[in-house]
Amino acid sequence: MPNNIPYKTYLDESEMPLKWYNLRADMKNKPAPLLNPGTGEPMKAEELEGVFCKDLVEQELDNDTQFFEIPDEIKEFYKMYRPSPLVRAYFLEKKLGTPAKIYYKFEGNNTSGSHKLNSSIAQAYYAKKQGLKGVTTETGAGQWGTALSMACSYFDLDCKVYMVKVSYEQKPFRREVMRTYGASVTPSPSMNTEIGKKINAEHPGTTGSLGCAISEAVEDAVTHEGYRYVLGSVLNQVLLHQSIIGLETKAALDKIGEKADIIIGCAGGGSNLGGLIAPFMGEKLRGENDYQIIAVEPQSCPSFTRGRYAYDFCDTGAICPLAKMYTLGSDFIPAPNHAGGLRYHGMSSILSQLYDDGLMEARTAAQTEVFEAAEEFARVEGILPAPESSHAIKVAIDEALKCKETGEEKTIVFGLTGTGYFDLVAYEKFHDGKMEDYIPTDEELEESLAKLPKVEEK
Ligand SMILES: *Cc1c(COP(=O)(O)O)cnc(C)c1O
Repeated sequence: MPNNIPYKTYLDESEMPLKWYNLRADMKNKPAPLLNPGTGEPMKAEELEGVFCKDLVEQELDNDTQFFEIPDEIKEFYKMYRPSPLVRAYFLEKKLGTPAKIYYKFEGNNTSGSHKLNSSIAQAYYAKKQGLKGVTTETGAGQWGTALSMACSYFDLDCKVYMVKVSYEQKPFRREVMRTYGASVTPSPSMNTEIGKKINAEHPGTTGSLGCAISEAVEDAVTHEGYRYVLGSVLNQVLLHQSIIGLETKAALDKIGEKADIIIGCAGGGSNLGGLIAPFMGEKLRGENDYQIIAVEPQSCPSFTRGRYAYDFCDTGAICPLAKMYTLGSDFIPAPNHAGGLRYHGMSSILSQLYDDGLMEARTAAQTEVFEAAEEFARVEGILPAPESSHAIKVAIDEALKCKETGEEKTIVFGLTGTGYFDLVAYEKFHDGKMEDYIPTDEELEESLAKLPKVEEK
């Protein structure tokens, strides 16, 4: 294996990566494998291929191949909005009066408004290549559903989205964007699936959850010929596709002769953070460079900081494979007043392993301080950030202010994953003083953690 990988040799003339980087190849402790919930054995490719597209299963299970060629069709699509800008936040630095340099990688410059398009276009491509009719998925607030419907319309694939009912009702605009791109959007739990019917019967009037929508989307895929299920975060394949964020960031920093000291990203299921840090963490793992890497999660959904590192279900219906991850338990649902996204109960297995190995740290932020940071950023940098992204802004500001105290001229890089135009109801709550912080009690967390599946690791 080559030491000191010249990531640069994997760029084209417009400085777009030609390959995705698979961080797992450089991890000594590999992420734990997905397990079959019935047998407790690692999932085999044949088993996964009933649910996921064939090429994506291969990427999911490959812990050894360092680079994956990005197919031409995907590169062409990426060129519509990539390379994405790496921006120096001069105005924020000035406002804070910090000697630190702050850079952000902005992934909100495409119509879907977030980094999720980087993986949805790849997943749609492989589904098309396999000759499928369409794909199913779940969406919470709607960013993933939006990104996937754009990608599916580009490749002329049918796209069925199960949208968490509360978001379906409260966020009609995202739903209309998805329908504009030809997707069908169903509020979840629905009466389309057995699991949806069961959940509706057991919890009449429920407003749904991500875990429940996942179960419905998987059931829909496996019961319809020519369909597969796709997921917008958490999985290894998604982090692989998102490595394009980190590779571009690394190339841009190298070009201007800058070295990052601190790299910060928000963490929901871990895909943007896993992508942003990939080449930097690769250097760290190979002993070539050191970086301080910080994941930021909501105080109300603290998987890394208060969760348990254990095998858990990825969905409420317990039909998906088991994944070993930092988790709050698949029953965990953040408090209803939580408005800042990042509400998945678990975390990418790759990031979970890196965190467990002490290679990165994690912090939480309360939602009111997240929106304060969002506003401070918007007023000087001119971008209206997504609430999710604003978790990273919050910690970037904290670190820049620390530098102000110590006089250190650190270079801080954070991921600005998307824009917040569809989150204005949350901004409204914040401005009207109606936003409250909520910290789950130990008892509440214990309740969902007590239901973790009993798995004997072999
Ligand atoms: C989905 C989303 C996230 C969180 O997902 P990860 O998989 O953790 O990256 C963060 N920011 C935005 C804008 C999103 O849409």
